[in-house]
Amino acid sequence: MALVGEQFDLVVLGGGSAARDAANMAMRDYDARVALVERERWGGSCPNVACSPTKAYLVAAELAHDVNTRAPVLGIETGPARVDLAKVREWKESLKRSQEQWLRDLEESGITAVAGQATFTGPRTLRVGERELDADRILVATGSRTAVPPVHVSALDLNEVPRSLLVVGGGAVGLEFGQAFSRFGAQVRIADAAGRIAPLADADSSAALAAALEAEEIELATNVFVQRLRQEGDEVVATIAPRDGSEPYERHAHRVLLASGRVPNVEELDLDAVGVETTRSGITVDEHLRTSAPGIWAAGDVTAVAQFTPIAQYQARVAVADMFGKDAPAADYSVLPTAIFTDPELGSVGLTEEQAREQGHDVGVVRNERVKRFQFVGAEHGLFKIVFDRGSRKVLGLHVVSRSAGEIVQGFSLGLRLGATVDDLAAMHHVFPTFGEGIKAAAERAVPDMADLVDSAFMD
Ligand SMILES: Cc1cc2nc3c(=O)[nH]c(=O)nc-3n(C[C@H](O)[C@H](O)[C@H](O)COP(=O)(O)OP(=O)(O)OC[C@H]3O[C@@H](n4cnc5c(N)ncnc54)[C@H](O)[C@@H]3O)c2cc1C
Repeated sequence: MALVGEQFDLVVLGGGSAARDAANMAMRDYDARVALVERERWGGSCPNVACSPTKAYLVAAELAHDVNTRAPVLGIETGPARVDLAKVREWKESLKRSQEQWLRDLEESGITAVAGQATFTGPRTLRVGERELDADRILVATGSRTAVPPVHVSALDLNEVPRSLLVVGGGAVGLEFGQAFSRFGAQVRIADAAGRIAPLADADSSAALAAALEAEEIELATNVFVQRLRQEGDEVVATIAPRDGSEPYERHAHRVLLASGRVPNVEELDLDAVGVETTRSGITVDEHLRTSAPGIWAAGDVTAVAQFTPIAQYQARVAVADMFGKDAPAADYSVLPTAIFTDPELGSVGLTEEQAREQGHDVGVVRNERVKRFQFVGAEHGLFKIVFDRGSRKVLGLHVVSRSAGEIVQGFSLGLRLGATVDDLAAMHHVFPTFGEGIKAAAERAVPDMADLVDSAFMD
């Protein structure tokens, strides 16, 4: 018997950050009839298994670390912090909205929530289980995942801190989990094929963060491939091959966490059949988030443009405005603040020094490594770096390694958007003693009359 298709103005595939924003905006601004299809978890990755739970673990880890390292120095008697991971996990879970609540919220807002896996059966038609959904506009927002071998653990599901943990991948996710578990008491080694951790960040920031992590006895192995993993009793044995061709070596770990190489969730969609072009990293989109097939847009991690929650939401809004005919501006990613939420955090906005040179700027760089506030938290490694154009003096990029670096670069991103110069940053008033004043201190180093006053002004 032929299925009778249910008609919608928009069908959104996925229930994550991109999908929810798109669905809400289409209903609010265009009075659209919207269906949202989710196969695994309402709410998607960010609140359930990505941003929020990892930040919860990092907060717990920072507290344990401060109790162990700062309390004795400050004269606060606590005894050593002991982490009960099952309870930390319980607390982390308590912060989540339940699946039932997500579903109720979607339905109360008027969205038709459809549980199941979506597959294209035609350019305007999708099958989800027994249901067929038809729409003139379809948004693919199916996200991404890590490709995992069987010995990998889902670190958010552990109830006990493993004695040792090998983290494969030294990007944001690997570094955040690595430091959290190290501070929970595991012996942690982080391996990455790139020449440095946080390979997308400015090289100096990456070096400052590496120094901070190594000072906590987190082992960093860069320029290596983790070639093979095999289970041996209660341990995993990793064969690690240096990229310089020298002899591979083995390392034992009680658990392995794979935090590298994200792949798009596209296999089940049958995109080829409807002419949606993809690459290995994701769905190809233009600056209005249109795919190569008319009537089909894509947003969020599945596009692999920049895999962050605010970008998923931003892309969803650009796509919805475009699909309902609004003369929407093209997507612009030029001033994008990001952070790795380790302690210290690594925050960036704008161009790295390397990118600025590649783009042909006459590059000026000023750095400041400490501010007074570091003394109070015992921070030994930090960086406030400004990359600017020497001709126009315009700030091209800011790179910060410090507690609160995410907040700092977020605030300054407005300055970059408005075309601030390094002299504007030097002339600012500032709050003392803050972490963020490190940017002004760095900027003053670019101004001859101010440069030699910086050390006494910011450290006394
Ligand atoms: C550990 C970790 C920590 C992170 N921390 C941060 C952070 O602090 N800040 C930040 O900005 N970003 C962070 N990110 C990135 C952020 O989580 C993602 O960029 C964001 O969640 C992407 O949203 P999305 O809507 O594109 O995808 P998702 O939220 O993943 O939603 C996609 C949904 O589609 C569903 N789906 C897939 N295929 C189908 C199908 N065929 N049919 C129906 N449904 C389907 C999936 O089940 C999924 O729920 C983190 C990522 C990870 C892994």
